[in-house]
Amino acid sequence: MRCRLCERDKALKNSHVIPEFVYTALYDDKHRFHVLSTFEDKRNTFEQKGVREALLCSDCEVQISKNERYVSLVFSGAIPVKASRNGRLIHVEGLEYAKFKLFALSVLWRAGVSALPLFAQVKLGAHEEVLRLMVLNNDPGPPEKYPFILAPVLHEGELQSDMIIQPSWARLAGYYSYRFVFGGLAWVFVVSKHRPPPAIVSAAISRTGEITMLETEVANMPFVVNLARKLSENGKL
Ligand SMILES: [Zn+2]
Repeated sequence: MRCRLCERDKALKNSHVIPEFVYTALYDDKHRFHVLSTFEDKRNTFEQKGVREALLCSDCEVQISKNERYVSLVFSGAIPVKASRNGRLIHVEGLEYAKFKLFALSVLWRAGVSALPLFAQVKLGAHEEVLRLMVLNNDPGPPEKYPFILAPVLHEGELQSDMIIQPSWARLAGYYSYRFVFGGLAWVFVVSKHRPPPAIVSAAISRTGEITMLETEVANMPFVVNLARKLSENGKL
């Protein structure tokens, strides 16, 4: 079997596309988890055993898991970061650019190569190979390359850490983008060979490890991208 990341013929592990730590809050007592699908009119569905697929060899799994571990420690608070609030905007400092970005890009890339129906809308085309090499070589690229914006997803003020939405594509300020929801956040990736608008780049993670997030109520969930578009039309956050 061919590893999708290093492309060597090796035994493959049953890998997660969206990492396990974001599922922990999702399992019920029957070890099923809750997936909210935009395809099924927000009807709740259950799937067994998480979303796994034979994609990676054990070496690549180890490499990817290092960045996942870092992000899971940030999410759990074990690695402290500095956050300040200005209305619905939350500014975070103290992230490790390479680790955080490579984690996010690895999720995007895995969703792109996945054959699972949950990720059917993520079709990366020529970007798939560019992203594969970035993830394989631990190269996060510059901030304007595949930037992503984050929006904490709230319901009546409570963070929705247990929600996963089927990733879908959308236009963001005219750019192809993919939106994911996991770990309590909407992750909107701009996937384009053109330089994205400065407002998106400035909200995305910087080399100095800063990121600006926009809190969004779940009622407005389909409009996360529209909110981001408004940000970009306004030219700044
Ligand atoms: Zn491999």
